Amino acid sequence: MKKKQTYSKKDAGSKRPQRVSNFQDRPRNGKGDFAKVNGGVFVYSKPLTVAELSKAINVPAPKIITFLFLQGSSVTINQLLDDEAIGTICLEFGYDFRKEEAVDATHFEDIKIEDDPKDLEPRPCVVTIMGHVDHGKTTLIDAIRSSHIVDTEAGGISQEIGAYQKEIHGQKITFIDTPGHAAFTAMRARGASVTDLVVLVVAADDGVMPQTLEAIDHAKAAGCPIIVAINKMDMPGANPSRVKEQLMAHDVIAEEYGGDVMMAEISAKTGKGIDDLLDMILLKAEMLELKANPKRYASGTVLEASLDKGEGPKATLLVQNGTLSNSDYVVVGEIYGKVRRMTNEYKKVLKSAGPSTPVSVIGLSGVPGAGDRFMAFPTEKEAKDIATKRALEKQQSARSGSAAMSLEDLNNLVNAGKVKDLNVIVKADTDGTAEALKANLEKLSNDQIKVHVLSAYSGAISDSDVLLAQASNAIIFGFNVRPDARVKQKAEEAHVEIRLHKIIYELLEEMEAAMKGMISVEKVESVTGQAEIRHLFKITHVGTVAGSYVTSGFLKAKTKCRLIRDGVVIYDGELGSLQHGKDAVKEIKQGYECGLTISGYNDLKLGDIVEGYEMVEKE
Ligand code: GDP
Repeated sequence: MKKKQTYSKKDAGSKRPQRVSNFQDRPRNGKGDFAKVNGGVFVYSKPLTVAELSKAINVPAPKIITFLFLQGSSVTINQLLDDEAIGTICLEFGYDFRKEEAVDATHFEDIKIEDDPKDLEPRPCVVTIMGHVDHGKTTLIDAIRSSHIVDTEAGGISQEIGAYQKEIHGQKITFIDTPGHAAFTAMRARGASVTDLVVLVVAADDGVMPQTLEAIDHAKAAGCPIIVAINKMDMPGANPSRVKEQLMAHDVIAEEYGGDVMMAEISAKTGKGIDDLLDMILLKAEMLELKANPKRYASGTVLEASLDKGEGPKATLLVQNGTLSNSDYVVVGEIYGKVRRMTNEYKKVLKSAGPSTPVSVIGLSGVPGAGDRFMAFPTEKEAKDIATKRALEKQQSARSGSAAMSLEDLNNLVNAGKVKDLNVIVKADTDGTAEALKANLEKLSNDQIKVHVLSAYSGAISDSDVLLAQASNAIIFGFNVRPDARVKQKAEEAHVEIRLHKIIYELLEEMEAAMKGMISVEKVESVTGQAEIRHLFKITHVGTVAGSYVTSGFLKAKTKCRLIRDGVVIYDGELGSLQHGKDAVKEIKQGYECGLTISGYNDLKLGDIVEGYEMVEKE
């Protein structure tokens, strides 16, 4: 579970605008606490004594004590002052004041930075282009890339940066180059959400296709608004109305049909309609009121990274909040480094990059992964400390990956009263069944838990399903379908649970039970093997030892067993020790002789069969 921390408490008495420094930007005293004057504002993180405050604001302690005395409270030099007293003292001696929480930045991915609304400024919209294969995503990316070129950009956009900005009517839009929902959701699976808006490309002559639907699901699961680009309008078979109707069936409803999805009719090939599309993006971006605080140290996401032979590790970073400067130190994963050179998509060297700006950066000590989050720090020491700490932690706990939800987790969370939403992906043998399951699963929603079916289609469980499940903490239900070995392995690696069923009501019952916190994993017995008793010995302090021959499978010491005489189970208990020759052994296989005991049971006879079994989770 992600911990949420408020980084900045509301200004207690600030009247002047100030540079809101980042939490990395303060002297520390061991635990990350701070107390210092910054541009006329006294910023502190915890209650202070009179002596500490005196030192921090450079006012003699007796003066503070006298002031408080005149205010009617009598304090000593080592007495802790509360926030109100600190505020009053600051104002008396000419400082604004602000209390902020000290935050440990080691796990910066988990910190939710809450900027003061007055520090927020509009930022460009970040757009990803998705759609079915061959519907024209790449052509559209290229068309946008080569539109609105100004003279200074004549060299064209470098292909290697993986993202670029376009300025249209003085407003910027950031485009992520990698089209498709797989890349988009792979990022999300790593916890990164970089896209504000999805442009869904649908070829007017081909209509809605499977990957169009996948893209819709992935965008919806990410809570990303969609603009539709109906492409290939120059083709003779172009039928935009049909596309709109098909999309409507999947809840993507055009404005002209009463919905809120803007749709542009374009030809990526001829360039027709591209300007309309760009205008729509700007309009939607305005409606989304995208904002960031350019005054803090940068944080964002790695879009791509590689090792350059000459320059070393090279990464495209998307600054999402704050401003990255070319003297900053960046931590990403367990790597850190100074921003040695920062360039934009035209290979122009930048001194700084604000929110929604993609930049190519060299100076990192290693190659980070796409989707990794980064954070900038003002000093090498801080960056290094944090990177080292992260590396250590990683070593200590080889991370279990971003475990998606399992039904058992759900069960536990329900019992702990902690779950509110449950995401589900349905794959069934027919579309009809998929729809029926979707409707029935959603109906299971109750006051405590809401079931969201992210996608429900016919067909085999695919990579894309696993990825979506991983990114959205979802469970996959398969009905009369099975994942192939490769997909199964992917799911295991990603800790995505796949539940397979053949009977609808069983699937629904299982889900209902989990939602009530009542699921119990059903166990079934699995016989490990049998042995026949061929000799009997009585040994003091041990009891009856049976010299036996393992006729099938194996027996394991201290596991469950039953004693069978003439085909009837006469005792159910546990194996004691196993002896092979003079040695105690843990396990004995078919074809070997052993001496065995049954714990607490001595009535063994020649010819009896000892059957070992285990309880295993039902498939
Ligand atoms: P992607 O797989 O979605 O990236 O599709 P591409 O951009 O590679 O386009 C697939 C094919 O459709 C290519 O042959 C393009 O030239 C063609 N194409 C793309 N957009 C248009 C268009 O607007 N009109 C026509 N006639 N062809 C297009």
